[in-house]
Amino acid sequence: TTFKSLGVIEQLCQACEQLKYKFPTEIQAEAIPWALQGRDIIGLAQTGSGKTAAFALPILQALWEAPQGLFSCILAPTRELAYQISESFESLGSIIGVRCAVIIGGMDMMSQAIALSKKPHIIIATPGRLHDHLENTKGFNLRNLKYLVMDEADKLLDMDFGPVIDKILKVIPKERHTYLFSATMTTKVAKLQRASLNNPVKIEV
Ligand code: AMP
Repeated sequence: TTFKSLGVIEQLCQACEQLKYKFPTEIQAEAIPWALQGRDIIGLAQTGSGKTAAFALPILQALWEAPQGLFSCILAPTRELAYQISESFESLGSIIGVRCAVIIGGMDMMSQAIALSKKPHIIIATPGRLHDHLENTKGFNLRNLKYLVMDEADKLLDMDFGPVIDKILKVIPKERHTYLFSATMTTKVAKLQRASLNNPVKIEV
């Protein structure tokens, strides 16, 4: 299997090559074709499986096909993970000119508000701070969002981000694509899945 045979466009195949991704990992091989067909995905996969590129490549491909600011939002439980995800989007997407903003707690609200006003394509956020901006940053909303990702959903819920995620779900379009990744399937993850995904393909590696 190659990225090309999964349906990944030439520009992004080149980016994978530059990053020395010779072959898709298992989660990538299983998730990317469904994602490119527009399906929602629930992926049960550990860190190290290549899950970040499994969601980043389909989102970048959709962005390339219909560029728009505030295109996708990735929710992550920790600042460290948010930065890692941002680095993956930037390295895979630099060829297509992707612009990302990391919106996490503990950083200056005002400089984040300025970053958001520039309409980045991809926002990588911890849920609490993103919700803060949705409430308090004038002119910022996610009403045209196309893709939502909840990464490490089990951890998001263990950290009690459930209620704030529910609030975020209320102010983004119902018609969107949603990917949920989790290391484990728990009762709470199943509940979040039912609240946020539409007829998802389940992939377990
Ligand atoms: P992740 O599980 O998304 O945190 O990725 C784990 C590590 O694997 C990261 O350092 C990625 O850069 C790397 N990686 C992702 N996909 C591939 C691939 N297809 N081939 C080789 N390395 C990869």
